[in-house]
Order: sequence, then C-alpha cells, then structure tokens
Amino acid sequence: MTGERILIVEDERAVARGLEYSLQADGFQVLWARTGQEALQRLRADDPALITLDIRLPDMSGYDVCRTMRAEGFRQPILMLTARDEEVDKVLGLEMGADDYVVKPYSLREVTSRIRALLRRAYGYLAASGEAEPMRFGELEIDPSRVAVRLSGESVELTPTEFRLLHHLAIHAERPITRATLLETIWGYDSDIGGERTVDVHIRHLRTKIEDDPATPRYIVTVRGIGYKFQG
Ligand code: CA
Repeated sequence: MTGERILIVEDERAVARGLEYSLQADGFQVLWARTGQEALQRLRADDPALITLDIRLPDMSGYDVCRTMRAEGFRQPILMLTARDEEVDKVLGLEMGADDYVVKPYSLREVTSRIRALLRRAYGYLAASGEAEPMRFGELEIDPSRVAVRLSGESVELTPTEFRLLHHLAIHAERPITRATLLETIWGYDSDIGGERTVDVHIRHLRTKIEDDPATPRYIVTVRGIGYKFQG
C-alpha cells in the first residue's frame, strides 16, 4: 500500500479506534473526525483519498456531510456506514453522491476490502485512462482523460463511480452487460448481498443525469433478464 490517507468520520471513539487499527495495519494513514464540521475541516485541510462516513453524528447527519462535500466539489470516494439496510436507497441517493455502503454491524475485513476496491477504481482507473480520446454519442460526450461528461455542451456532474460505470458501458456499446459483470468490474467485488441493487441504483442516477426522459432511456437501456446496454 502507498499509505493513502483515509478520513474516518465517526463520533464513537471505540468504533473509530477499531477502524483505525485495522486500516493502519493495512498501511493506510488515518485521520479521525468526530463531528460533521470537523470532517469538513479535515477534508479541506488534509485532502484525504477516501472518507468513511457514519450517518449519525452529533452535529449534523452523514447525509448532510456528504451533500456538502459534493456541493463543494470534493469528489473523493465516500463509503457510508449505515445502521440499517433500508437506508441504502437514501445512502446511494442521487443528491447524496456516496459510492458504496456497509451495513452495521460490519466486519473490519469487509470495510477494508471495500476501501481497497473503492480506491482501486477511483484512482487506479483515472491513472490508466490518461491518454484516451473523448467519445461522442449524439449529444453526449465522455472524456476519459478529464473524467468529464458533457450533455449538449453542458457539463454533467458525475461521481467517480457513475463516471466509471458510464464509461465502461460506453466502451462496450451495443453489448449487453450483466449486473454481476458490472459489479465485478466497477465495484471490484463478487456479487454479494445487495450488490445488484447497488448497480440498479447507480444506473437510475446516471439516467437521471444524462437521459432526457429517464423512464425511456436513449443511452442506457435495460436488457431484460441480463442487465444493461449502452446504445451509441
Ligand atoms: Ca454515530
């Protein structure tokens, strides 16, 4: 590991300590913020590579921290730590911009493997796509070297996960791709509980951002019984 900085946002000391020890043992540098305000300060000052975010914080919710981060233009991967599975839709919500979640109680091994997968796809991918040419499909332009998407000339704000998903679908245009393949390629892990739902939620968000009518998509179509296909 190259010692990336991970910001743990968690008000319970014991929980934060557990995560901290586990991440340090894996070679990460760890920053800890106890409140939402402290998290935003650390984020601005210390430029962490990834943020783990608890939802229940003393001063503001993890949702508000997440929204504020994205509104301020921070695009680091966010791993939400949620108490209940029902919160998943909200956690991965469009206005929220979190990239993945783990439901408490979680195993530390699960959290560190999710963190590794998130870092790999956010940064390994960006480094690897440096020379690629922009792709154009109708009004949609995907520019891998700048990790930018434009629709009718207007910039579209995507999270790193959404960008990677869209780019992967686009470079395999016209070919149906299964949810399991997308999970493995984009999220970096085997299909597990809730995994396919993660794919569906992100596809829904992408459609809201790039489709004129998300209910009858022009670019990302559903292939019944299989998964999704990008139409060039
Ligand atoms: Ca808490």
